[in-house]
Formats: sequence, structure tokens, C-alpha cells
Amino acid sequence: MDGSFDLIVVGGGPAGLTAALYALRAGKSALVLEKGGFGGQIALSPRVDNFPGTASMSGVEFADRLLAQVTDLGGEIDLAEVTGVSDEGGRRLVSTAEGAVYEAGAVILATGARHRRLGLEREEELTGRGVSYCAVCDGAFYKGRAVAVAGGGDAAVQDALLLSNSCERVYVIHRRGEFRAEAANVRALWARPNVELRLGCRVAALLGADELEALELEPVAGGERSVLPVSGLFVAVGFEPENEAFAHVASLDSSGWFAAGEDCAAGRPGVFAAGDCRAKTVRQLTTAVGDGAAAAVAACKFIDSLKNA
Ligand code: FAD
Repeated sequence: MDGSFDLIVVGGGPAGLTAALYALRAGKSALVLEKGGFGGQIALSPRVDNFPGTASMSGVEFADRLLAQVTDLGGEIDLAEVTGVSDEGGRRLVSTAEGAVYEAGAVILATGARHRRLGLEREEELTGRGVSYCAVCDGAFYKGRAVAVAGGGDAAVQDALLLSNSCERVYVIHRRGEFRAEAANVRALWARPNVELRLGCRVAALLGADELEALELEPVAGGERSVLPVSGLFVAVGFEPENEAFAHVASLDSSGWFAAGEDCAAGRPGVFAAGDCRAKTVRQLTTAVGDGAAAAVAACKFIDSLKNA
């Protein structure tokens, strides 16, 4: 056994870190295991303007502050991918891809969501060669060039705004006739002279030899395809869950999200789900940290019940 904790949190995004913060403040020991970068999706956001009670800040700043709160309280963190959780003799065992096995009274799954792919032929081959899922990470490579953003939600509009600061031209390709994104951001997008909207269209093919050189666009209503020369395509068409590895300890709905209610109880006793990974309608910072708090309070109660048994 590589360590024993009251609580193990799978995922170091806003929900997971908030859960750890609440558990630590309740006097529990906590380990947060994160496979990518602490902060989760919010670390990709150039600006967070909608977190109540805080002035505008970058997503990285938000993530750094939350992580510091956890470590300052004695929370342990480790970079590791959790590959399974099992339930043995009233304790939960958490295994990582690196071969470590930890024991915990309770586990909170806060695995968030991953970028949805367009599902195009050559999409995987051209990822990193023109196709990207992160404008914050890769936008600088396309300075002065023409790029496209696929999507119509908040992430797509934010990506397009960011890219329009440095790219020569930004095409926004969206299947519908209007955007689902926050109205203020959509207005800002309309005002950018180097942004062109291609509404009612979808990307039908990725063209180029070793790198992306152009997109083939197809009207959703049918009709002739056209070719749009671009060096980069930023895909922002939403998120999907990555919860399969935990299906034996937590219930999944038909789309793969954890079927947990507001109490965050996920299935087996002592297993909770918090944040974007849970079936819900609003996936935002506020709802993620709210879940983190609710899951931690429920987990602490469960841990106390084990000690009193
Ligand atoms: P995530 O942030 O997805 O974190 C989950 C973490 O779990 C990830 O770090 C992942 O690597 C890790 N993980 C997954 N599986 C495993 C595993 N098996 N083992 C170990 N670790 C694992 N919301 C707002 O309210 N305001 C905004 O301005 C805003 N801007 C955004 C901008 C962008 C570009 C994006 C992508 C999102 C934005 N959001 C915004 C949404 C917000 O970031 C999310 O709702 C929030 O981060 C969800 O938190 P979470 O902890 O549930 O999940």
C-alpha cells in the first residue's frame, strides 16, 4: 500500500480541489490525484469574469490560488492517472497507471470532461499539425495566419476572440444560425473586423499533406462543398465524460456522465461524484465548486460513520 487517507479525490480541477479544501478544513487527511495539470479546464481560460465576489482574473491564477489553499492546509497532491477504484472490506482502493495503490475511507470522483472530437477522418493524424482543442495553449503558433474555430458555445466564442488578437483572420464555423454563447461575448465577436462567421456549415474534411492546409465546408442544409484555406482549426464543440474506468463503483447515465444527484452520492457507499463529470445542466465554475463542497461534506459524514462503526 502506497498510502492511506481519509479521502482521495480523483481529479485536480475546481471541483476536486474544492472538495479537498472542505475535507481538510473538517480535519480529514486528503490526497488529490491529477493526471494532467492542476486546475483542470479553467486553467485554459484566459479570463474568468463570472465567479461571484472576485474581480476578473485568469483561469491559471484562479487554479493556482485554489491549489495553494489546499496545499497550505496540508493536502497532499500527486500527478498520476487513476485507473481504477475498488471497494474491498469497507475501504476503497485507488490504483494509478504508475502502479501505486492507495487506501481511502471515501473517494470523490471529480474527473471533469474532455474535449469532444469532430469525428473526422484524419482528425487524430492532424492533431498537433494544425488541429487543436486549446486556443490558449496553441494560439500563439498561428500568429499572423488564418485559422478557423468550429463551435458555437462559450468556449468557441472565447477561443475566437482570443485568436482574433493575433491571427490575421478567424473564421467561426457553426452548424446553427445563432450562437449559444453568452450574449456579451457574441457582441464582442461581431465587433472584431478580422472575424468572419460561417453559419449553417460544418467541417466535412481536413485537407493538407503533412499539416492542415484547408477545410472542406458543407452546408448543413445540403448543397455544394467549399474549400476554406486555413493553417489552424480550433475545435470547440463541447465536452464528453471520461468516466468509463469507474463504472463498476459508480452509476453512469446513458451519455456516460455519473448519475449522481445533488448529494453527489455516485453508487457504492463512500463513492461520490462532483463537478462537470456529474449529470447536470450547467457546467461552470460555480456549479463545480458547489459540487465539490457538497461531495466533501457527504464524504466526511461517511468517513465519520466508518470511524464510529
Ligand atoms: P475539470 O476542470 O474538467 O477538472 C477535472 C480534472 O480531472 C482534470 O484536470 C483532469 O485531468 C482530471 N482527471 C480526469 N480523469 C482523471 C483520472 N482518471 N485520474 C486523474 N485525474 C483525472 N467556467 C466559468 O464559470 N467561467 C469561465 O469563464 C469559464 N471559462 C472556461 C474556458 C474554457 C476554455 C473552458 C474549457 C472551460 C471554461 N469554464 C468556465 C468551465 C469550467 O472551467 C468548468 O466548468 C470547470 O473547470 C469544471 O471543473 P471540474 O473540476 O468539474 O472539472
